[in-house]
Amino acid sequence: MARSPHHVAMSLRLRNTLSGQLEPFQPLATGRVGVYSCGPTVYGPSHVGNFRSYVFADLLVRYLRWSGYQVTWAVNITDVDDRIIRDAIEREMPIAKLTAPHIEHFLDDWRRLRLSEPDVRPRATEHIPQMVDLIERLLEAGHAYRTEDGSVFFRISSWPGYGRLARIDPSQQRVGERVVADDYGKDDVRDFALWKGPKEGEPRWPTRIGPGRPGWHIECSAMSMHYLGTTFDLHTGGIDLVFPHHEDEIAQSEAATGQPLARTWLHCAHLQLGGEKMARRTGRFDTPADVFHRGYSPRALRYALLAAHYRAPVEYSDQSLRQASAAVERLSSCLRSLDEYTELRPDDASLPVVLQAAHRAFREAMDDDLNVAAALASAFDLVREVNRRIAERGLSTADAGRAAAVLRDLDRVLAVVGPDETATSPAPPDGAGHEITGLLAERAAARAARDWARSDELRTRLAELGVAVEDTPDGQRSRRITEMARG
Ligand code: AMP
Ligand code: ZN
Repeated sequence: MARSPHHVAMSLRLRNTLSGQLEPFQPLATGRVGVYSCGPTVYGPSHVGNFRSYVFADLLVRYLRWSGYQVTWAVNITDVDDRIIRDAIEREMPIAKLTAPHIEHFLDDWRRLRLSEPDVRPRATEHIPQMVDLIERLLEAGHAYRTEDGSVFFRISSWPGYGRLARIDPSQQRVGERVVADDYGKDDVRDFALWKGPKEGEPRWPTRIGPGRPGWHIECSAMSMHYLGTTFDLHTGGIDLVFPHHEDEIAQSEAATGQPLARTWLHCAHLQLGGEKMARRTGRFDTPADVFHRGYSPRALRYALLAAHYRAPVEYSDQSLRQASAAVERLSSCLRSLDEYTELRPDDASLPVVLQAAHRAFREAMDDDLNVAAALASAFDLVREVNRRIAERGLSTADAGRAAAVLRDLDRVLAVVGPDETATSPAPPDGAGHEITGLLAERAAARAARDWARSDELRTRLAELGVAVEDTPDGQRSRRITEMARG
C-alpha cells in the first residue's frame, strides 16, 4: 500500500449516485485508485460553474492521495461534438481552430486554480479508433444498429439495465439539451447515437464502421476504459451529466464488456446564479479570467468553489468571493506569522494535542463524504488556537514550526495558501520535486503529531529519492545527497 501517515485510520465513505447510499470506499486494487472526470466541451470558454466540477474532482483526488492512495486521474477534453461543429461551420473554420484557444484558456485556468495535473488528458479526436472498436462490439452483440445515413444507434430496448443510475423508467422518452440533435432516423426515440454518419460540410473520420464522427457519450466510455480499464473506481461530473450522458456511458460500456464501468459515481451540485444553474447557453456566466480581472485572486476563487459540500448547490456572488478572500487570507497570515515567529522558551506541552486533534478532525470530516465545510472549520479552529498562542508568545520556535507543518499538510488537500501563479508562468516542476515537498511536509506533520514510526518511514523514503533529513531543535532540515555519498 502507498505511503502516507494518514492511511492507518482511513475509512472514507462516499455517496454513490448509483446506489443512492453512503458506501465505504473500497478500491478495486489495494492502494490504487482510478478516477475519470468528465472534462470540458471546448466550443466556448469554461465558466466558473464548470470549474466547480473540476475543483470538486481535484479535492477528491488530492484527498485520496493525502490518504495514501496512488491515484490515476483522467480528465478528457471533448473536442468534437454537435455544438463545436455547429460553431465551426458558422465561422467557416476547422474544428481544431475553433477549439484551440478555448483549450489554451482552459488549461491556463486549470493551473491557476491549482488543480492537480491529471495523469492523462485524453482528447476525443485522438481516440476515434477506440470508439470504433467499442461500437463494433455493440453492433456484433446486437446492442446497436445502423441507419441509412451511416449512423449507428444504441438500442435501448436491448439493455434492461437502462435507467438505473438516473432512476428513470426506461420506457420514458429522452429529454435534455444534447438529445434533440441526435435525430438521425432511429428505430426508437429513446435510442441514442453512437456514431453519426457523414454530412456535407461536417468533419468526418474514415473508419471500419464507415465515415462519420462519434456521438458525445461514446467518447467518454472509450477514453475512460482505455486509460483506466474495463472497470474502474470513480467517475465524476456535474449533476446535469447523470442523464443522459452517464446513463448512456453505462449502457454502452456495460453492454459491450459485460462488466460494470465505474463502481462509484459522484456528482456535484451546480454553481448557481440567481438560483439557477450557471450555464453557457444563458450567456450569464463568469469565466475565471473575469473573476481575476475584478481583483479576486485565483486561490480565493478556488476557495469559493471548494468550501461548500460538493452535493450542496452554491450561489455564486461577489459576497461569496469576498468571504473566500478573507478566509484564504486568514489561513495565509497565520502561516506567515508562524514562519516569522521566534521565541527562546521551552516547548508548549499542550500543543501536540491541539495539532493532533485538528489533524484528526480534518480527516474525519473529509472521510465523511468529503465534508470539506467541516474540514475547513477544523482548520480554522486550529488557526484560532495558534493565533492566540502566538499573541501570548506561548510557543517555542520549534512549536511554531510544528504548527506550520500541520497547516501546510492540510493545505496539500485544500491548496489555498501560498502565492498565486501568474497566467504566463511556466508549468510546475516535475513530479519528483512535488513528491519530495509533499513527503517533507508529511514528515514534519508526523513529527508534530509524535508519530515516530511514520517519520522514520518517511525518512527512508526520502533517502531513496536522494534527500537526507536531519532533525534539529528548530525542526527538520533536508539536503540533497550527492551521488557519491549515496553510493
Ligand atoms: P461541459 O463543458 O458543458 O461539457 O461541462 C463540463 C463539466 O462542468 C460537467 O461535469 C458539467 O456537469 C459541469 N457543469 C456545468 N455547469 C455547471 C455548474 N453550473 N455547476 C457545476 N458544474 C457544472
Ligand atoms: Zn463525459
